[in-house]
Amino acid sequence: MIDFHTHLDLFADPSELIREAQLRSAGILSVTTTPSAWTGTIRLADGYSVVRTALGLHPQLARERRRELALFDRHVGETRFVGEVGLDGSPEHKNSWSDQEDVFMHILRSSQEAGGKIISIHSRRAATAVLDVLEKVMESGNTYVLHWFSGTQRELGRAITLGCWFSVGPAMLSGAKGRSLVAQMPFNRILLETDGPFTQAQNAVLKPWDIDLVYPFLSRTFGVEPDEARNRIDLNELAVVKKN
Ligand code: MN
Repeated sequence: MIDFHTHLDLFADPSELIREAQLRSAGILSVTTTPSAWTGTIRLADGYSVVRTALGLHPQLARERRRELALFDRHVGETRFVGEVGLDGSPEHKNSWSDQEDVFMHILRSSQEAGGKIISIHSRRAATAVLDVLEKVMESGNTYVLHWFSGTQRELGRAITLGCWFSVGPAMLSGAKGRSLVAQMPFNRILLETDGPFTQAQNAVLKPWDIDLVYPFLSRTFGVEPDEARNRIDLNELAVVKKN
């Protein structure tokens, strides 16, 4: 089991969380929001086999942190994983749109030049714009994982055609729209995530092993036994990691 999108460095006590994840054999893709957070965040994972760290620059920070792209390029050779990156079209982030586009494009090209990365992508209120960018750089050796996808059915169809993967978490299943999107995803492109510590279930912050909460839904929706759902997600994890 791998939580494909956790902000480990933003938990109150990351060390305690990592120790428990190691005991539970719960895999973590530890995403970051700025290149300057890379060194400290990868150090957290030192000695723990369950953690992989991703190099990121969050679209909501694109304007204030775009000068850190040089730092992104310096570190990109140190990991197979990039994230959290992408575009955010929410009203409060629209004013940084051109910075967001520059930063996202730079990161995709840099990842491509570094041999191709597995990239966790934010596309809130920007699914079409993200897909337009990905279409331009699709033959790039990068693997794209759309995190918490919340676009339209039409945009979902386009993402599937483009070969994107989807990381899906308990928070996404709390609304009818999210459940309906997941039900239309090909099972063999689904990965799991929590987006902790920004998500909760029953008033508790979601931790990496809480991806387990998604299996009953997958089982009901795709008509497979819970154990079979778990096996298939395990195979998806292997497939996406092997791809790059
Ligand atoms: Mn996130």
